[in-house]
Amino acid sequence: MNSPKRTVLLYISLLIAALWSCNRNAQWEGQEPVKKVSTETVPIQLQYKGTFDLGAGMYMSNEFEGARLNGVARTNDTLITVLITPENSPINMSPWYAFQLWSDYPRDIYVKLSYPKDASHRYQPKVSTDGMKWLALDSASFQDTTMHLSVGPDTMWISAQELITSNHVDQWMRGLESRSYIKRDTIGISHEGRPVNLLKIGESDDQRMIMVISRQHPPEVPGFLAMQAFVETLCADTKLAAEFRSKYNTYVVPVANPDGVYHGHWRHNRGGVDLNRDWEDFNQPETSAIRDFMKEKSRSAGNKFYFGVDFHSTQEDIYYTIGPELEGNMPGLVPELIEATAQEFPDYTPNIKPRSEEDARITSTSFLFFEFGAEALTFEIGDHTPRDFIHRKGEVAATKLMELMLK
Ligand SMILES: [Zn+2]
Repeated sequence: MNSPKRTVLLYISLLIAALWSCNRNAQWEGQEPVKKVSTETVPIQLQYKGTFDLGAGMYMSNEFEGARLNGVARTNDTLITVLITPENSPINMSPWYAFQLWSDYPRDIYVKLSYPKDASHRYQPKVSTDGMKWLALDSASFQDTTMHLSVGPDTMWISAQELITSNHVDQWMRGLESRSYIKRDTIGISHEGRPVNLLKIGESDDQRMIMVISRQHPPEVPGFLAMQAFVETLCADTKLAAEFRSKYNTYVVPVANPDGVYHGHWRHNRGGVDLNRDWEDFNQPETSAIRDFMKEKSRSAGNKFYFGVDFHSTQEDIYYTIGPELEGNMPGLVPELIEATAQEFPDYTPNIKPRSEEDARITSTSFLFFEFGAEALTFEIGDHTPRDFIHRKGEVAATKLMELMLK
C-alpha cells in the first residue's frame, strides 16, 4: 500500500523527527545584550494587603511576606480570577504570585491567573499546606493559566516558586552561624530599612577573597537554591572545605533585594529599579552597600577578590561569563570550573555565553570583573530545572571551585 497518503505521512514524520533533533541540539542563546538604562528611583505600586471574603464561604489572603495578589474576583461558583500586576513598568516578564486560599467546606474550584495585557505567564504554580514543603501542579491540574484545586478549611498556599523569604534565609543563616568559622554581618540597609545581610565564611586574612550574591531578582528562587547548596559545601566539615577556609574568605549576600522579596516583586527593588542594571551608577542603596563593602575589603595592600558569582534564574540553565580573552586575578578559572562541573554530569552540556562587547558594564558580573579583577560568573538556573539537580550542581560547583583555587 504505497499510496500518496502514506508518502505524505512519511514526510510529516521525517519533518517532525528533524525538528525534534534540531530542537534538542540547539542551545538557548540567552538574553539580548544588556543595555544601559536609568536606575534613578521611580515610584512603585504597592499592593493592598488583606483577607478577601469571596462569598459562598471562600477566602483568599496576601497577608504574608513574599505574597503577591493584586486583586481577586469570584467569577462564578467554581471559578476565581486573581489579578497579578507588576510593581512598575517597563519590567521583565516574570509575573510572581503568591497567595493563600481556604473554604468553609471541601470543594473543587478553578483559579485563573490574570496578568496585564502585555505580560506572559512564566511560573508553573506550586502548592503547599504549610508554606514550607511545595509541590508543582502537574499539567492535568494546570492548563492555560487556570488551576484546578481541591480546597477546604485548611489553608492552601499557592506560589510561583517555593516561597523563600528573608525570614527563611535568616533561619538558614542562624543555622550556619553556630560554626566558629562563620560570622554574620549587616553591610547596609534597603530603601525600607531592611538589612542587607552578609555571611563571612573562613578563617583566613582577607588576602584572598571570593564574593557570592543572590536574589537581586526576587522570584529567582532556583538560583537561590543553587547558591544555598554552593555555600553549604563551602561551610561543610570536610578536609577540602577546611583547607579552603584557611586560605580564602568567602563573603555571601544571600538576599541582595530584601524589599523586593518582602513585597513579592516581579523583578525590581523598592526604588522601582532592576538592581542588576545599577552596577555602574549605583543609584540604589542595596547595590551601593555591596560596592562599599567590597571596596573597603580591597583597600588593604594585597587583599584581592579572586572569584565572584551571582546566582539567578531564567528559562534554562546558562552561564554568562566574561570574554575568555580577558584575564583577571586567576585567568582560566571560570572556564575550568564550568568544564570540571560538567564532567560530573553525563548527558549534560553546559550552555555558556560570554558577555559581548555590546553589553553595557552595568551588571554585577561586569562590576566584579572590571572593578576588582575577580573571575566572574552569572550562574543561571532554569525556572523548571529539577530541584535535586540544582542542589547537586551547586554542590559540585563549590567542590570543583575549591579544588581549582587550591591548586
Ligand atoms: Zn536575574
